[in-house]
Amino acid sequence: MEINYKIENNVAIISWNMTTSPMNVLNDISIPEFESHLQNAYADPSVKGIVITSEKNEFIAGADVKMLLKNNDKDPAETYKFSLDFNNIFRRLETCGKPVVAAINGTALGGGYEVCLSCHYRIALDNPKAQIGLPEVQLGLLPGGGGTQRLPRIIGMEQALMLMVEGKRVNPKEAHSLGMVNDLASSREELMDKAIKWVLANPNAIQPWDEIDKKTGAIKARENYKVPGGNVQSPTGMRTFAGGTAMIMDKTKGNYPAPIAILSCVYEGLQVNMDRAIAVEVRYFVKVATSREAKNLIGVMFLGKNEADKGASRPKDIPKTEVKKLGILGAGFMGAGIAYVSAMAGIEVVLKDVSLENAEKGKEYSRGLIKKGIERGKTTAEKGEQLLSLIKTTDAAEDLKGCDLIIEAVFENRELKATVTKEAEPMLAEGGVFGSNTSTLPISGLAKASAKPENFIGIHFFSPVDKMMLVELIRGKETSDYAVALAVDYVKKIRKTPIVVNDSRGFYTSRCFGTYTSEGIALLKDGVDPILIENAGKNAGMPVGALAVSDEVALDLALKISGQAIKDGALGEDDTTYQVTKLMVEDLGRLGKKNKKGFYEYPADGKKYLWEGLAEYFPVAETQPDIEEVKKRLLYRQVVESIKCMDEGVLITKLDGNIGSILAWGFPAYAGGTLNFPDFVGTETFLKECDRLADTYGERFRLTSQQKELVKTL
Ligand code: NAD
Repeated sequence: MEINYKIENNVAIISWNMTTSPMNVLNDISIPEFESHLQNAYADPSVKGIVITSEKNEFIAGADVKMLLKNNDKDPAETYKFSLDFNNIFRRLETCGKPVVAAINGTALGGGYEVCLSCHYRIALDNPKAQIGLPEVQLGLLPGGGGTQRLPRIIGMEQALMLMVEGKRVNPKEAHSLGMVNDLASSREELMDKAIKWVLANPNAIQPWDEIDKKTGAIKARENYKVPGGNVQSPTGMRTFAGGTAMIMDKTKGNYPAPIAILSCVYEGLQVNMDRAIAVEVRYFVKVATSREAKNLIGVMFLGKNEADKGASRPKDIPKTEVKKLGILGAGFMGAGIAYVSAMAGIEVVLKDVSLENAEKGKEYSRGLIKKGIERGKTTAEKGEQLLSLIKTTDAAEDLKGCDLIIEAVFENRELKATVTKEAEPMLAEGGVFGSNTSTLPISGLAKASAKPENFIGIHFFSPVDKMMLVELIRGKETSDYAVALAVDYVKKIRKTPIVVNDSRGFYTSRCFGTYTSEGIALLKDGVDPILIENAGKNAGMPVGALAVSDEVALDLALKISGQAIKDGALGEDDTTYQVTKLMVEDLGRLGKKNKKGFYEYPADGKKYLWEGLAEYFPVAETQPDIEEVKKRLLYRQVVESIKCMDEGVLITKLDGNIGSILAWGFPAYAGGTLNFPDFVGTETFLKECDRLADTYGERFRLTSQQKELVKTL
């Protein structure tokens, strides 16, 4: 039994309590059982009404994502039937002729909240941690259980669209103020009491969009239901749709079909009666549920990321480790962030810098974040003090004694890193591991300063540390499985996503991300209009244009990195990034955002704009390429480099490659990450295009026959 059924005071109580799943979810097991309980309640003349609730902490967390992913591979006709059958349960529920109340005892998301929407009345337990909403859009889907039709009819189009298009979740109090639930209860007892009372007091409850046919006495759907706040054709309605479309296009550039499909469902559905409205929603649901975008968002961003979060790349057979005391060398921008996220996870932190004053400055960073957190109601002063008490500042190496892990985040200088490694490593507890947060220096080289290179590893955080969810762990030549396992366990403890890669110039993430900026620079040198380069990057789904992000990272840094690669023989003197950044930095003194002069100008009193002087050094060609071609160059370059990383063994798993590309540098999630991209565009098309791009623009797009074979297995 997944769902319990009992009758109390002539009211059927249908209470979810799944045993086959850790949370209550709608799946192949629970849906038929739920339906059969409902049928019993409809058929039993002694039952005056129904209360739906749960015995777990959550009400119903949503539909089982694995079931949703299965829909993606099915014939659309089968998905259509599935969706129609699913909706019939809800439609039958609201027209069963007996009052039905949702006693929402906890989180009700997606299909879980759609169950509530088809009830005649909704009461929620006022638990600030519970979440209510329709977040399907985040999986590339739309609310497919009538949510796009019922929510706007209950709370109005504008609010409903905002919630569904952004997939926003709210707590019960907010849900109440928005009208998403009708009443709140302060305890489970009160919740059930109120629910049963409402059922008994409202024997003739029907949905506002239905009416009783006077001749037959049957319930029928009404065409002319007045939506709160105005119908589709009202001035507010028209404004909502025009504004909504513009906002979605600005955000998604048309790369994600679900938000526009939600808009269409509401637009079409609100002009017809509920039965026809459901048919509208089913039609759009099938379209998005079988899309490649949904497959990638569910398969990679949800299920894949979950796997990575659980430590999919952790070497097996190493007993669980725990970092209780962490040392951090360098309380600068990165060190301060690492201290904050570690103390947040309850880890004791020793934050060391060259002076106590510097170390204190690093701790100030945590104080600032806590202050913001308190202002936003995310934390309390007491919790903030607790966190701060875990961070000990120092300038003395002895204070690092007994650390399970030490992470160095001092200046990016090989000699300095060697000195601090030698000084701090002897302070480690037995079995302790030393990590470097270097962004560019190969780990195997840095490990030479270590007395225990098997316990030396790269722990590459991204900035800002508190916001960026990925940590790239880099195995040096001698790094042991034990050190990797300890680092993965630490990253899991601070609730970030770990990926594990092998050592390489720029590791995986910086190396591939660098190809985005360098292709942007190559396009500039080829005479492509800079505004087209920037627009194409964003249209392709990258968060920032290639030139803008080059400015942000700093042009002198790009010059330093390419210069070092030339010295090491990895690049030739004619490298475009080297040539262009050399001109920008050495001849023109333009370092990027940091000196307010780069490819862009950064006026003190306004928004950045592309520097007009660029045209003098990089003349804009008379004939400009199609935007699709520019998008292709920008995306394919990153994908080709990722395939090379896989081929060279820098990447160990496809999952890490995909998750890393999305979380580290914002490669488009709709494509499922760099290594899913060939499948997204079609493997044969992809391979042909790589050859064409290589013939037209240069060998950097060329894949070897071995790499082509590899693409076919991805
Ligand atoms: P930063 O300049 O903000 O901080 C460096 C800190 O190290 C300074 O506070 C400095 O006083 C301290 N320091 C210098 N010598 C020291 C010593 N002997 N002992 C203890 N502390 C010492 O630099 P950052 O941006 O935080 O970068 C630190 C490291 O992280 C670099 O290796 C960098 O490449 C890497 N990294 C930076 C970013 C980023 O976006 N900033 C991202 C990933 C990795």
